[in-house]
Amino acid sequence: MTAKQITTIDFTEINKIEITCIKCGAALVFPIPDKDVAAHNPPKHNVCIGCETPLWTGENDQRYITALGLIRGLAFWKELKEKGFSLSFSIGSSH
Ligand SMILES: [Zn+2]
Repeated sequence: MTAKQITTIDFTEINKIEITCIKCGAALVFPIPDKDVAAHNPPKHNVCIGCETPLWTGENDQRYITALGLIRGLAFWKELKEKGFSLSFSIGSSH
């Protein structure tokens, strides 16, 4: 039996998300801003920096909605951390 490593990440430790283009592999980095900024300033990039493929087609595109929701969720979570519980996820398995 070999030991397996488990990594646990607190959501408040996440300071950016990366969107990787499946066409060319370029990664766009979106920093997680303060919640007030996140509430009023959606991501500005809408094309891949490597091949200029559109990442989303507009504000109703599910990809945009999902990325914006993740960024805002992480930004707001930092404010809520001290209100009762923490939120994290783990990578790896102990069995
Ligand atoms: Zn690309």
